[in-house]
Amino acid sequence: MHISIIGSGYVGLVSGACFAELGHEVICLDRDPERIALLNAGGVPIYEPGLTDLIARNVAAGRLRFGTELAEAIPSSEVVFIAVGTPPDPTDGSADLSQVFGVVRQIAPLLTARGQVVVTKSTVPVGTGDRIEAIIRAEAPTSHAYVASNPEFLREGEAIGDFLNPDRVVIGTNAAEAAEVMGNLYAPLADKTVIVNTSRRSAELIKYAANAFLAVKISFINEIADLCEQATAEVQDVALGIGLDARIGPRFLEAGPGYGGSCFPKDTLALLRTGADVHVPLRIVRAATEVNDLRKAEMAERVRRAAGGDLSGKRVAVLGLAFKPNTDDIRDSPAIDLIRGLRAMGAELVACDPEAHDPQGLVFGALSRVVDPIDCVEGCDAAVIVTGWDRFRSLDLTKLRSRMRVPVLVDLRNLYDPLVARNCGLVYHPIGSAPLQHDLVQEGTR
Ligand code: NAD
Repeated sequence: MHISIIGSGYVGLVSGACFAELGHEVICLDRDPERIALLNAGGVPIYEPGLTDLIARNVAAGRLRFGTELAEAIPSSEVVFIAVGTPPDPTDGSADLSQVFGVVRQIAPLLTARGQVVVTKSTVPVGTGDRIEAIIRAEAPTSHAYVASNPEFLREGEAIGDFLNPDRVVIGTNAAEAAEVMGNLYAPLADKTVIVNTSRRSAELIKYAANAFLAVKISFINEIADLCEQATAEVQDVALGIGLDARIGPRFLEAGPGYGGSCFPKDTLALLRTGADVHVPLRIVRAATEVNDLRKAEMAERVRRAAGGDLSGKRVAVLGLAFKPNTDDIRDSPAIDLIRGLRAMGAELVACDPEAHDPQGLVFGALSRVVDPIDCVEGCDAAVIVTGWDRFRSLDLTKLRSRMRVPVLVDLRNLYDPLVARNCGLVYHPIGSAPLQHDLVQEGTR
């Protein structure tokens, strides 16, 4: 099938490359000519494991192309995906749909009378498909296009595996013709996943409900972690003990510095806005967001306590800037609040992250970055693990300790066995377990 994907970011590029891998003829479009020029030159503008090879293979096979000109692609496409950003509106947290509607206005005059399917892969609030349909009907009355919702559930860092082996594919449309086209599109995956066919509005809501549920799960275990610290219990044991209950499940029960990324923070806010619009308060989702905001803001304080109570003039190593491992994405990363807090406390910062992308220091400001994590902690008074990169899981802790001025390691991802870390001479502060007496660095004891 011939497919256009508008928006060649984390979702558009992965979806495009994967649809091509499934045998479709795909063109990925973007309004950013530099991005498209880079792709056409064999480069890839984002870090996603396996993506460079997948793109190269499908470009070589003639199934995947890149471009900026919608007019050259849309008329011949059977399916047109919209995969542009839906960032939060700064005024009220609702999803800013200007990019989506901008694309719809651009493609409407290019749609034909062949019954093409326009599909939102972008995460859009319930009812957006109705608004897209109204724009197309008004601006292209002869087009006969259908509008469908096909929300994307891929996780950055594991996006290709998630796309090609999804837990489910959700197809939301009110038209049998569109359902058939979408069914054909996903036919290569039909024997290994569940295809959920539903109304367009339900599909739109499924995406937000899924992300909100996962956000609730994370905030829940983070609160249990706080309780463990006060009640002398171990959150990892509690998570294991509850996660083995099939009704709960083990995933998303890792206590940490709070969720970040390009989806959970903005999608929970947008869902709250949707609820408010129809007078349904969604109190559980609200609580999850409040717990998360507080938690992210508290992480710097946690480091300050671990380091003895005063960070002014102290050197702190931040290990991890990306919001999760295996991505360069720093959108809403917990590292942002942490770094802001540590700076406000007077700390001097140095950071290490294998991929985090912050051109011109737009997010983190002037932050000195060191490639090797052990070099990064040189002369530091504390180090904080923020992102669970594999590279930070296998550090030589004895070496790490020897390079630090004061061997305080705050591990916001619980990557190490506390006994092992302490035996290496570190003052080790994991999440969700009571501090040992010897780990309490008292102000003025150094
Ligand atoms: P992104 O910012 O990485 O990519 C969006 C791309 O769209 C950019 O390259 C931008 O230049 C392009 N664009 C914007 N307007 C355009 C236009 N008029 N014409 C052509 N291109 C245009 O965003 P993303 O992370 O890929 O997210 C896209 C959507 O998918 C969002 O709604 C997001 O919530 C959703 N989503 C994201 C993820 C994720 O993990 N990133 C997962 C599931 C769903």
